[in-house]
Formats: sequence, C-alpha cells, structure tokens
Amino acid sequence: MAIIASNFKTNHTRKSTALFVNEVNNYLKSNNIKNEVYVFPTATSLDLFDTVPTFSIGVQNAYATANGSFTGEIGTTQLDEFEIKTILIGHSERRHILGESQNKIAKKYEFYKELGYKIIYCIGEPLEVKNQGLIKTLEYIYEQFDGIDTNYENLILAYEPVWAIGTGVTATNEDIENIHNSIKEKIKKPLLYGGSVKVENVREICQIPNVDGALIGTASWKTEDFIQILENTK
Ligand code: 13P
Repeated sequence: MAIIASNFKTNHTRKSTALFVNEVNNYLKSNNIKNEVYVFPTATSLDLFDTVPTFSIGVQNAYATANGSFTGEIGTTQLDEFEIKTILIGHSERRHILGESQNKIAKKYEFYKELGYKIIYCIGEPLEVKNQGLIKTLEYIYEQFDGIDTNYENLILAYEPVWAIGTGVTATNEDIENIHNSIKEKIKKPLLYGGSVKVENVREICQIPNVDGALIGTASWKTEDFIQILENTK
C-alpha cells in the first residue's frame, strides 16, 4: 500500500477544483484502491471537499494559532470549520521562497502536534548541497529535523530535493534509495518521495525500497493525470 498525495500549491480555481474532486471521488469509489490518498488544495476551496469520503484533505499551510492578529494567516478556528486535521509543514517553497526558518517551522510543528494533526513534514536539499555529495546532503537534511519530535505518532515524512521540485528532473532511483535508507534507519515513519514525480515514473519510484508513496505537485494538477497516477500505483 502506498500513500499518494497531491499538492495543488497555488493552482486551480474553485470551479476546476470541484471538477477534480468529483472525478477523483468517482474513480476511487468505483475502483478498489488500497492506497491512502491525500489532497492539499488551496484554502479557498476547502469547503468543496466537505462530502468526499474517499480521500483525505489537508492544508498546505496554516499559522500556529487558534486565532488572533496575524494578517493573511489562517488558524485552527478556521480549519475546524472544514474539519481539517492534516497539514503540510516544512515544504521547500515555504522554507526557501516564503522565508520560514527552522525555528518557525519547529514551533508550527509542535503546535499542530499538540493538537493531534496528521503532519506531512518535508525535508530536502538544494542543488548546491547535493553537489557536495551524500554525506553533506544527509547532514543538511538532518538539520531540518532540529526541534522536530520524530517520534510523533501522526507523522509522515516527505523527502523532496529542492532541485527536483517543479523542474522535470527527478532524483535517480539510486539517490532516492540511498537517502531514504539513511532517513529510515534513524526515523521509522512513512517516507514519501516528491520532486518531478510523473505519470510515467510513479510506479517505479513507489517500488524503491523504503519509499512509502509520493507527494506530487505538477503531475497531479490535471484530473486525468492524477487518476492515471492512482491507477499506476494501485
Ligand atoms: P512537483 O511534483 O511539481 O515537482 O512538486 C513536488 C512538490 O513540491 C510536492 O509538494
């Protein structure tokens, strides 16, 4: 069984999300899919998932608060309205584009852990670190666990090398296996791979030892592609 997750990032409208939800739900209802399926839509479409029993829904981000004066953020008071209990934390775009420090990420992790949320926690190295070799890459990745309680029962990890995200360049099977083996030796939690996972390579990637599934951006945005991904991994 694999965990297959779609991260919409800042894509889709409410209209296109509604079509996605409907078609993926119909597919899952009429096929015997054992995989665990997650979708992380934009916050503007969370209500469209209200009545979907076949897959889990999570938020791409939220602030470490119930409510308060944090302009532009949402907290658990808002998430509760949609019965959201799953969150992505530490995604490379939040770290590198939106400027979230490890300290902030660890505080957010702790907050959502205390509330029992399922957390998909992302780690991964940029190209300049990868180019320094496996040992440096692992050192960099382990620093991304600073302040993170990796014994947490509702934790899923996602290894997403920054240079593979949205570039079309997937990590080699050997790279994925090496990094996953090393992480799994230390942290015994489900571990997804993300970074240019495609319809064509998802099955092979999910069969690599110590890969428990995939976190997918670009290739999951078209409904027919996401359904094909579910078909290829069932
Ligand atoms: P891509 O699949 O577009 O490379 O994105 C991966 C990702 O960032 C999923 O969270």
